[in-house]
Amino acid sequence: MDNSAPILSLSNISKTYDSDGTPTAVLEDINLAVHAGESLAIVGPSGCGKSTLLNLIGLLDTPTSGTITFQGEGLEGFDETARAVFRNRSIGFVFQLHHLLPQCTALENILVPTLAGTPDPEAPERARQLLDRVGLGHRVNHRPGQLSGGERQRVAVVRALINQPALLLADEPTGALSEEGSGALTDLLLELNAEHNMGLIVVTHAPDVAARMGTVYTLKSGRLSPQGDEA
Ligand code: ADP
Repeated sequence: MDNSAPILSLSNISKTYDSDGTPTAVLEDINLAVHAGESLAIVGPSGCGKSTLLNLIGLLDTPTSGTITFQGEGLEGFDETARAVFRNRSIGFVFQLHHLLPQCTALENILVPTLAGTPDPEAPERARQLLDRVGLGHRVNHRPGQLSGGERQRVAVVRALINQPALLLADEPTGALSEEGSGALTDLLLELNAEHNMGLIVVTHAPDVAARMGTVYTLKSGRLSPQGDEA
């Protein structure tokens, strides 16, 4: 693959919801490209369409018009099953709440995304190495209830990385953490972004988290622009 080509590109993306016959345009003519090793933040007021945009980027939804290309491959013809396979292989997700299974250990939680598809015999070793990397090598067999909030979120980050995704999407990843925990998790996301040469997209309300990313985009009135360039 051409390394200068974006991992993900959105071209002229629009999204209109049609509720009860009344069309509501939420996103209009969005253009965005994310390259390997790049980090970017998306900020904007509640209701401006951040979740809608993240659902499109994460291949959880399809646009009304425009094209999405992932690692050079157009996704228009993909049905839901094909998108799910692609998503599981290529995109890692971190959310505001960790969504770890309470009855499973850290290691078992991390391996959940590897259970679909072809068996991956190297996954447990990779999980242990990643747990070590995020400072949790001594917490392999702990359950979420035995971990602090910051530790749970680090386990969730490792779970997002276990399939070695090209793109990591984080939706308010620090929203449930203390100020100190938020700074530490932001540091970790940026370090992993560089070490794994992934793209990193963070949706956040926290200006200090957004400011740490390479580029900050503002979503306003359905349009996306680099911060400072808003109309
Ligand atoms: P944000 O994440 O920035 O708070 P959302 O993407 O959740 O914003 O929502 C953007 C707008 O789209 C809101 O006005 C919301 O009411 C509307 N919206 C979101 N999902 C749907 C849906 N499934 N059907 C109709 N309208 C929706």
